[in-house]
Amino acid sequence: MNAQTVHRELASIVGERHCVADAALLEPYLEEPRGRYRGRSRLLVAPKDAGETARVLSSCNARGVGVVPVGGRTGLCGGTHSKANEILLSLHRQRRVRELGAGSLTAEAGCVLATLQERADEAGCLFPLSLGSEGSCQLGGVLATNAGGIHVLRYGMARQMVLGLEVALPDGRVLSDLKPLAKDNTGYDVKQLFIGSEGTLGVITAATLRLYPRPKAWITALLGVATADQAVSLFRTAQSALGEELNAFELISRGAARLCEEHLEDVPIPGGIDAPWLLCVELAGAGEESLLAERFTEFLESARERGELLDAVCAVSEAQRDAIWRLRHGVPEAMRRSGPALRHDLAVPPERIAEFLDSAREVCRERLPGAEALPFGHVGDGNLHYSVPCPRDIDPDRFSEQGRLLSAELRELAWSMDGSFSAEHGVGVLLKDELERLGDPVKLQVMRALKRVLDPSGIMNPGKVLSS
Ligand SMILES: Cc1cc2nc3c(=O)[nH]c(=O)nc-3n(C[C@H](O)[C@H](O)[C@H](O)COP(=O)(O)OP(=O)(O)OC[C@H]3O[C@@H](n4cnc5c(N)ncnc54)[C@H](O)[C@@H]3O)c2cc1C
Repeated sequence: MNAQTVHRELASIVGERHCVADAALLEPYLEEPRGRYRGRSRLLVAPKDAGETARVLSSCNARGVGVVPVGGRTGLCGGTHSKANEILLSLHRQRRVRELGAGSLTAEAGCVLATLQERADEAGCLFPLSLGSEGSCQLGGVLATNAGGIHVLRYGMARQMVLGLEVALPDGRVLSDLKPLAKDNTGYDVKQLFIGSEGTLGVITAATLRLYPRPKAWITALLGVATADQAVSLFRTAQSALGEELNAFELISRGAARLCEEHLEDVPIPGGIDAPWLLCVELAGAGEESLLAERFTEFLESARERGELLDAVCAVSEAQRDAIWRLRHGVPEAMRRSGPALRHDLAVPPERIAEFLDSAREVCRERLPGAEALPFGHVGDGNLHYSVPCPRDIDPDRFSEQGRLLSAELRELAWSMDGSFSAEHGVGVLLKDELERLGDPVKLQVMRALKRVLDPSGIMNPGKVLSS
C-alpha cells in the first residue's frame, strides 16, 4: 500500500496536524532508552479519543498496515520498535482524567504516571504504582507492560490496580468496560488479556484505577546486611512483625550502590553504610508516626541482637527520605553511564534468591572470567535486575559473543528454579526468542490462538512478544 495513501486516509480521521511525517519531529519516537533498537517508521498518528483510535486501527486493518502503539517510550524490551512500513500510534492527546471518585480514578491512556499519582494525592488518596520512569511513562504503556516497581509487595503489579479498561480493537470496535467495580464475575475477565499484552492485541485508551487510602505516617530506612540470605530472612521477619505496613523492601548490592556514588551527581550512600548488601525499607501506615517508629525500632533492635543487621540509618527528614530513594532509583541510570553491561530482569521465589546468586556467580565465572555482577531488585517478589558489566581488558567482540551465551544461561537458570526470565519489563522484541525457547508450548499455543481471534491480520505491534 502506497505510504501517501495511508497518510491521506489517516489524516482524514485524525486531522493533518496530528499526522507527523517530519523526520526531525519523528526522531525521538525512533529511539529507546538503552539504544538497542532504532525505529524506522515514517508516520506518527495521534488520535484524540477511543473512537478515533478505533477508526485508525480499522483503516490500518483493512490495508494490512502494522500499528505500533507508543506511550512514554521508557519500555526496556524494544516494544515500540517500528519498521519503515508501520505507523506509530501515540496516545499523547488522550490525557484527561475523566473521573475521580472516592475509591477510583478513570483516566485516559496518555496520562503520565506521575500526574496520576499527583491527582490521587490531591484527592487525599494514593495511587501506589511507582517506577523510576514515572515522570515519563504513560498509563497505556504501564498497563500494556503490566509494570511492577517498588510497591508490588504491598499493592501488587499494575494489573491488580485496574478495575476497568477501555480498548480499541483492530477491527474498529471499542471494548468499554470501565466500571469501578471490585466484584464482577460475569464471564471471562477479558480486560486482563490486554494488560501485559504489549500492544499486540489492541490499544488501551483508558482505565479505571483503584485508589487506596493515603498513609499518614512514613518510615524510610537504609539497612546494611552481610548476605542475600539474611536479606530474605529479614524480609520475612519484617513481614510478620510489621504486616501490611511494609511498603517496600529493596535490595542493592554494594557494587551497584557504589556506581551511584561514582557516576551520579550528589547520590552518596546515606549514612556511609558499608555493607555487602543494602536494603531500602519503607513502612507506611494509617496511625501515628511515633507508633510506627516504635515498632520499627523494636524490629531493628531484635534483628541486631540476632546478628542479622550490620548497620541502619532511618530518615528523619523528607530530604533524607529522598536521598535513600535517589540511591535506589539511581541504580539503572548509574549502570547506563558506567558503560556496556548485560542486563537481565529475572525472578526467582524469594527463598531461592541466595541460591540463584551463588549459581549465577559460577555461570559468570565460567563464561566471562573477571566479570562481577551488580544485582539489585525487589526482595519481596524475588525480582532481581542482574547486571553484568563488561570486564576490563576484554575484547568487545568477545564480550558480545560470550555475553549472548551468558545471558541465555542466566535466563535458563532462573527458569529452572521456578523463576522468570522477564519479571516486570515484558518481552517485546528483545525476549521473544527466549519465550519461544523456554516458554510452555501449551501457553504459547493459547497465546497464538488469542492473537488470531483478536488480530487476525496481525497488524498490532508486529514482531513483538510472539514471532510471526
Ligand atoms: C529509568 C527506568 C526505570 C524503570 N523502572 C521500572 C520498574 O521499576 N518497573 C517496571 O515494571 N518497569 C520499569 N521500567 C520500564 C518502563 O518504564 C515500563 O515498562 C513502563 O511501564 C513503560 O511505559 P511507557 O509509557 O514508557 O511505554 P512504552 O515504552 O511507550 O511502550 C511499552 C509497550 O507498551 C505498548 N503500549 C504503549 N502504550 C500502549 C497503549 N496505550 N495500548 C497498548 N499498548 C501500548 C508499546 O507498544 C510497547 O510494547 C523502567 C524504565 C526506565 C527507563
